[in-house]
Amino acid sequence: MSIADLLLDLRGLSVDIGRGPTALRVVNDLSLTVRRGEAVGLVGESGSGKSMTAFAIMNLFPSPLARVASGQVLLEGRDLAQLNPAELRAVRGARVGMVFQDPTSYLDPLMPVGRQIAEPLRAHGRTEGLEARVLELLDMMELPNAARVARQYPHELSGGMRQRILIAAALAMRPALLIADEPTTALDVTVQAGILKLLMRLRRELDLGILLITHDLAVVAETCQRVNVMYAGQVVESNEVAPLFAAPRHPYTQGLLGSILSPRSRAHSLFSIPGSVPIAGHWPPGCRFHPRCPIARDGICDSAVPALRPRAAGADRCHLSDEPIAADAWRRNEVT
Ligand code: SF4
Ligand code: MG
Repeated sequence: MSIADLLLDLRGLSVDIGRGPTALRVVNDLSLTVRRGEAVGLVGESGSGKSMTAFAIMNLFPSPLARVASGQVLLEGRDLAQLNPAELRAVRGARVGMVFQDPTSYLDPLMPVGRQIAEPLRAHGRTEGLEARVLELLDMMELPNAARVARQYPHELSGGMRQRILIAAALAMRPALLIADEPTTALDVTVQAGILKLLMRLRRELDLGILLITHDLAVVAETCQRVNVMYAGQVVESNEVAPLFAAPRHPYTQGLLGSILSPRSRAHSLFSIPGSVPIAGHWPPGCRFHPRCPIARDGICDSAVPALRPRAAGADRCHLSDEPIAADAWRRNEVT
């Protein structure tokens, strides 16, 4: 990979909520990269810090208490965490676009969608050829009869069409990176498949880098080239998609995979990881996954913090990942 291919480079990113001794660290020393034209998954259960990571990239948090505590957010070589508010506004939308789970709450119900797609262009001072650009974007989103759709209001469109409108607005300024946070979670399965296909096409045709945030590994399998699995504010495993699905190394990844496909179990024996993600910032000592891990070892996993160890391909954060027992951590729990 040449330096020029590297689009997003998060280095040791930590996010805190609050300040001083009571601050909660909700994202801890997270590193990941996205290259040009590449889709990278960030996957984990809700509460793992995925969305906080996305907000940190844009330095646009939903709460004034949240902030980037340390680390670098390099986009095309510039550290976004060091930019002043005006510089940051120039980057947002122009170099990075963002789409979220629920399109409805990000659209103005009283404004025709065509005008909403043009909004980022206006905000960046592009006032010429707006109408043509909006129609071009609507075509790109595979919405038939673009001129008519542009005049419609959000409530006249389906959920899937509304998400396409938001993607069009996010891409209006031709950003190099799209951050998509659970973009299909609120949609039903057939609509979801259409949006994922669209994102894949846009990635190829626009050489767009995509950071796809999801709780659903099946979505990652269909869309991404590489994946980072996040648990309790940390990346616990990262790899290319094919080897990660074929031979997951971390017990948490194995558990997530077991909940979408369980080759040895029968139908209706859908597996799920017992327990739940700890409350953000109140992480257990040692390995943060140890209270839920089927192979946790007393005296090690409950006290020593595992480092993220680079492998020939990818990396994982588990004391026992070299031991045979870790290759199939959940076997004894499976229905036979
Ligand atoms: Fe399980 Fe221990 Fe590995 Fe954590 S370090 S995932 S508790 S085996
Ligand atoms: Mg989220």
